[in-house]
Amino acid sequence: MSEFPRIFHSVEFDGPFQRCLNCESTFDELAVPHIISKAFRGPECVFEYALCQNCHGEMVESFSEESRFNLETFFRANVDLDARSEKLAENEHHTDWLKECLTCQTPVQDLKEYSIAALAFGDQMVFDPFPRMMCGGCEFKMQEQISVSTRDQWDRFVRNHFEGPPAEALTPDGRIPVLA
Ligand SMILES: [Zn+2]
Ligand SMILES: [Zn+2]
Repeated sequence: MSEFPRIFHSVEFDGPFQRCLNCESTFDELAVPHIISKAFRGPECVFEYALCQNCHGEMVESFSEESRFNLETFFRANVDLDARSEKLAENEHHTDWLKECLTCQTPVQDLKEYSIAALAFGDQMVFDPFPRMMCGGCEFKMQEQISVSTRDQWDRFVRNHFEGPPAEALTPDGRIPVLA
């Protein structure tokens, strides 16, 4: 049994994520960590996926240089990872890492739309800077940083991997959370 917090379990699979959305390798046989992302509207998870670090890295690499630069600039301007790391040092209660927006510090209980992300190795959670939570508003601002072509490419990637309702119907403000 996994000790992984339930909030990061897959709703679709009713348990911990087992394999990468893209390459379908199982996480217990991969030598690299994986990243889990879930978007919530109120109490309901409206979107979720898990990607191994190889596939995630390839995806980010495929973003245009400008988009990557803008995302980095946005993070540098809005997130103080060192201060956060110091504040939460040695703290392995995932809820403490998720209790306020990474960029605007709005408390999670005041939010209707937000996304959370975690880094995991096998069935263990890896701390700092993950896990993190970002409000819908900041998510939107972050996504304004990437170019239309990168945006389209990411949307296509996600849509190719999901069945059922179109991805844009699943997320707050019609956008798919981009991992950066
Ligand atoms: Zn993969
Ligand atoms: Zn925010």
